Amino acid sequence: MTSDPAIGQAFLDRVRERLPGLRLLVDPLEREAHRRDETAYLVPGLPLAVALPSTTAEVAELVRLAAEHRVPVVARGAGTGLSGGAAGIEGGLTIAFTRMNRILEIDRENLVAVVQPGIVNAILKAAVAEYGLFYPPDPASYEQCTIGGNLGTNAGGLCCVKYGQTRDSVLGLEVVLADGTVLRTGGRNIKDVAGYALTQLFVGSQGTLGLITEATLRLRPAPPPRSTLLAFFGTLEAAGAAVSGMTAAGLGPVTLELMDRVTIAAVDDWHHLGLDREAAAMLMVESDLPGAGATDELDGAQAACQTAGATLVVRAADAAEADWLRQGRRMAYHALERLGVARMEDVGVPRSRIPEVLRAIEAIGERYGVTIGTFGHAGDGNLHPTFVFERDDPTAEATTEAARGDLYRAAIALGGTVTAEHGVGVVRRDYLIEQVGPDAVRVMRAIKAALDPLGILNPGRVLPPA
Ligand SMILES: Cc1cc2nc3c(=O)[nH]c(=O)nc-3n(C[C@H](O)[C@H](O)[C@H](O)COP(=O)(O)OP(=O)(O)OC[C@H]3O[C@@H](n4cnc5c(N)ncnc54)[C@H](O)[C@@H]3O)c2cc1C
Repeated sequence: MTSDPAIGQAFLDRVRERLPGLRLLVDPLEREAHRRDETAYLVPGLPLAVALPSTTAEVAELVRLAAEHRVPVVARGAGTGLSGGAAGIEGGLTIAFTRMNRILEIDRENLVAVVQPGIVNAILKAAVAEYGLFYPPDPASYEQCTIGGNLGTNAGGLCCVKYGQTRDSVLGLEVVLADGTVLRTGGRNIKDVAGYALTQLFVGSQGTLGLITEATLRLRPAPPPRSTLLAFFGTLEAAGAAVSGMTAAGLGPVTLELMDRVTIAAVDDWHHLGLDREAAAMLMVESDLPGAGATDELDGAQAACQTAGATLVVRAADAAEADWLRQGRRMAYHALERLGVARMEDVGVPRSRIPEVLRAIEAIGERYGVTIGTFGHAGDGNLHPTFVFERDDPTAEATTEAARGDLYRAAIALGGTVTAEHGVGVVRRDYLIEQVGPDAVRVMRAIKAALDPLGILNPGRVLPPA
């Protein structure tokens, strides 16, 4: 792989020659603006250039030329990623999909949307809602992040607990491979077992196996407005027990989110929602069942919360209040950022083990003397413990490094994962083998070598160095 300036210049000359209409950013300030994603503690490389293609043919030609000159290629959506997946590589080409942001088709007969990768999640949601349809995946960053980034990370969100992750809403892809070949996978079939599941393989591969230039997404009829319940608990463990209780009772709420005391206070200071700040934890439970089904589901949730020892259970008065509460939860990370330097993590555990992982998180906070605000998608067993430091704390980096190692090991020991939705990227790469084992990493390397033999696609991400 090159970071040789002469080869970089020859590459750019060829790009300009072959693609004269391409928007190519080479100004240092513009390249600087594409250096980082939201993984604040990472100091990535400065891209050689940033390309903003508007067609698949341009992407294919860019990748072909990059392969010829051995220039690394980084796919980029909105750069909201939390694992360093879209961060720059020194001397590499960043391909930002900002201009490939169109909805190509909304097919009501088949309940699918065909989109380009640069479309923002919230814009797609709003567009399909006009047809009475629903695209479920909803990362908390949905007003900024793109479908390409969601596909790259297999993003989750607040309603995965009922509708699954991004991968569960994808039927087909158009992908530019590492040699510039344009591959189509899947299509509009709900059921399709012809050969290996290539569509699913590319989803979550963080731009290391191919660049997604089009996606055929699965839609659903829009559910009714949500009914919302908040339950407050005196201990984190009681909240964890309520989650396990709801799962065991077979409830399927559309949202089952948790916030701890630190997060409750941070959100309430900012949004003044009148949350119970004395509580150690809060659960937000939402139902999108029609008619009396929602009341029944929330009654079941309330019973599970009370059995687990909830100190207070309240219901949103109407859909507007429910929207406010959900928005408050979505802003949890930014609320914690108002307290200082915030470092969000992303562990997952089997749902029955939530009380144990919450206990482990508390112990890590005590061990390192660091404030941790924990929130997340408790219904999926996915929590975002977020380390919060004073802005000028010189020990922040070292403490984060050590504490997150303990956190990952705790999750793995509970049969969990070091990342449930943000991706391995660069920052969790060294822990992959601890979780999945050497055989799985060997198979992953073989897939990477088969699809990207020159190693030009997002090198150094996902897989640890051999
Ligand atoms: C406040 C906040 C809240 C968040 N909440 C959630 C949440 O609830 N759930 C969740 O899952 N994540 C969440 N995230 C993380 C982030 O928003 C998601 O990972 C999102 O999917 C990234 O989308 P993006 O467009 O910003 O992609 P980027 O960050 O630009 O890229 C993400 C990855 O996808 C790859 N990629 C981008 N485009 C393509 C493409 N066209 N082809 C192939 N690979 C591509 C990149 O190389 C990179 O590896 C949150 C982030 C923030 C800052």
